[in-house]
Amino acid sequence: MAESTPCGVCRIHAGAAGAEQQIHRGGVWLLRHHPLPAPLPGWLVLDSLRHVGGAIDFDATECADLGPMLQRSSALVRDLTGCERVYAIAFGEGARHFHLHLIPRHGADAATESWGVADLYRQVAGGGRTAADPELVAQLVARAREATAAW
Ligand SMILES: [Zn+2]
Repeated sequence: MAESTPCGVCRIHAGAAGAEQQIHRGGVWLLRHHPLPAPLPGWLVLDSLRHVGGAIDFDATECADLGPMLQRSSALVRDLTGCERVYAIAFGEGARHFHLHLIPRHGADAATESWGVADLYRQVAGGGRTAADPELVAQLVARAREATAAW
């Protein structure tokens, strides 16, 4: 897209924002940490490099590659955070560009359970809940870059 694009995801891909949260760019995907303020440490986001609104617009390569990339990225979230499960949610409303939220689900933290994680998200965005420590996020991004270097 053009440099003047209003798409926030394309702006991130162009390095205009969030470069410090980018983890891995390869094939047709870009994996990054959620921008600051992050709702949870280890909340990653998997973007299509192409500006497409959702899976309905995927080309053959994106279709074939999503499964393996989703599996590796979800395992990375678990390895980084020690969570038991990893949620995958894509709305595409904040930016009409496919970006799949990969959310650590911790059994001991009820706030991360099912749709409760949406309440957690809104609380952080509204300042009613403390966001993830930016230093911890930076450490996780560094670890994730090492872990994905061979992808
Ligand atoms: Zn875009």
